[in-house]
Amino acid sequence: MSVLSVASEVYPLIKTGGLADVAGALPLALKEHGVRTRTLVPGYPAVMAAVKHATRCHAFDDLLGHPATILQVEHHGLDLLILDAPSLFDRAGGPYVGPDGRDHPDNWRRFAALSRAGAEIALGVLDGWRPDLVHLHDWQTGLLPAYLRYAGRPVPPSLMTIHNIAFQGQYGVDIFPHLGLPPDAYAIDGVEYYGGVGYLKAGLRAATAISTVSPTYAEEILTPEFGMGLEGVLAARAGDLHGIVNGIDTRVWNPEHDPLIAATYGPSKLKRRRENKHAVAERFGLKHDDGPLFCVVSRLTWQKGMDLLADVIDEIVAQGGRLAVLGAGDAGLENAFHAAAARHPGRVSIHTGYDEPLSHLMQAGSDAILIPSRFEPCGLTQLYGLRYGCVPVVARTGGLNDTVIDASPAALAARAATGVSFSPATTHALQRAVNRTFRLYREPKTWAEMQKQGMKTDVSWDKSAGLYAQLYKNMTMKGR
Ligand code: ADP
Repeated sequence: MSVLSVASEVYPLIKTGGLADVAGALPLALKEHGVRTRTLVPGYPAVMAAVKHATRCHAFDDLLGHPATILQVEHHGLDLLILDAPSLFDRAGGPYVGPDGRDHPDNWRRFAALSRAGAEIALGVLDGWRPDLVHLHDWQTGLLPAYLRYAGRPVPPSLMTIHNIAFQGQYGVDIFPHLGLPPDAYAIDGVEYYGGVGYLKAGLRAATAISTVSPTYAEEILTPEFGMGLEGVLAARAGDLHGIVNGIDTRVWNPEHDPLIAATYGPSKLKRRRENKHAVAERFGLKHDDGPLFCVVSRLTWQKGMDLLADVIDEIVAQGGRLAVLGAGDAGLENAFHAAAARHPGRVSIHTGYDEPLSHLMQAGSDAILIPSRFEPCGLTQLYGLRYGCVPVVARTGGLNDTVIDASPAALAARAATGVSFSPATTHALQRAVNRTFRLYREPKTWAEMQKQGMKTDVSWDKSAGLYAQLYKNMTMKGR
């Protein structure tokens, strides 16, 4: 089976979050299941710089008003198609925001162009190649199924995956005439959304099937609290909605061979983690002691519950803990962590910014990773934590609920526990979970058992890739 995957970010070329990890790792895991994936990604500067020797395979004279070419190249096992459109993608800043931190004003056009190019490829503009199925990721690709739907020709089935429903790609009605869709597409069952144009909504209406990145989140987004306005659209398609949990790239994330950590180790050599703990403390300017070292590797946002965490830092320190934070995001939250670091020198420290190598060392050296998210479609950092013996302390929501087994008395007795989970996502519940974590940490045998159980957990893509392959198969069979 051949699949066209379309994503606005792909690890290792360009990454702002978990979406890139998934778009980069799933195609590799699917190879084992007889699925060949080609991945279409925008030609941002970082992508163009990383990819040499790409060859031209198609040219668009006018892609939403801009010239563009499709380049193809193999890169780290990925079969890439790059949408090279300098007037849309060759600019300073990140994939979505400019150097001033504000959204690129023409994001609607940039990602409509990505979707349009993907639709043309799905329809066969690349000589001799037509995918059996198209797999789309998040709002940036939401218009693609709409372009297919109004193509007026037989089209391959499409799977729309929601990585985070909070990001919906909502624009004013004034952009509609520029999208190249027929007038009747501006309708309730088309791209219209609350009086404007909704990219994710368009994809959810027009895609053959929908998936999201954990079974719990698949249920949650049917409710107003988590559906964020799209619960009605999703309810109408509940029979086509699937929840498949993400895996991680277990070759990149492997404590036994990780070149980015101070000392490699496995479940039988947990003592070697001490060297990493020492290295984390050094990097963050923290004092060395035997108390638990907590870490955070996260966007610093309300979604991630970082305000809740900021409220319990003093308690963590009072009980003899230390905290190392790696993250960037809301200025107010960054300031709250800087203020905590100033109150507790040597016990709390924050590195603002994005640092992939440091995130490996933190998973290898911290005792526990704190993830108090208000919602979490899947979450990856708890999976890295499990793999590295860094015990996840998580809010019981979305994928966190599906991947971490709480250290309840029953789970501890059965030796099944892999972390600590709490609900609801409030300061009070987080505080109690932290207290519980301290108690567990003071029982070294229990703690080591939890670490080992986590490290034994299968967090690879193997199982989930099989589920995607099966879903693809069912979708293509149905279309016949
Ligand atoms: P989300 O996609 O909502 O941000 P996930 O947990 O799914 O959350 O994925 C976040 C990914 O980004 C993980 O791979 C995590 O390690 C990484 N990450 C987040 N913040 C940082 C940072 N400041 N430095 C390095 N890696 C980070």
